[in-house]
Amino acid sequence: MSDTIFAKIAAGEIPADIVYRDEHVVAFRDLNPQAPTHVLVIPRKPIPTLNDAGPEDAELLGRLMLAAAKIAEQEGIAAEGYRTVINCNAGAGQTVYHLHLHVIGGRPMQWPPG
Ligand code: 5GP
Repeated sequence: MSDTIFAKIAAGEIPADIVYRDEHVVAFRDLNPQAPTHVLVIPRKPIPTLNDAGPEDAELLGRLMLAAAKIAEQEGIAAEGYRTVINCNAGAGQTVYHLHLHVIGGRPMQWPPG
């Protein structure tokens, strides 16, 4: 499962509009944005879905969230508000099987989500 498009982006093998990266996570703009800001935050470690994360990944999951908040600040949407989403498996709409956190903002959000 380490040969997904997102693993290739993290490895620098496929281009992406990268907005943040560190030792543990990489974040880049979604190819098909659903809002003025739509960034995907991924772990460098190729975890397919949230279901596949274990206790050993607890710190990494926290890093994803902290990166999301940092990116929201960077994008200027932290104060007005933004949404973070993880789609887990097909029923939730997951299409790329490398864990990713959507950071979406820059427009009003509806609730409940579709
Ligand atoms: P999912 O539906 O799995 O939660 O989200 C996958 C997201 O990845 C979608 O929003 C889709 O637009 C985005 N995406 C798919 N392929 C690529 C790609 O090659 N590059 C970028 N930047 N985004 C992609």
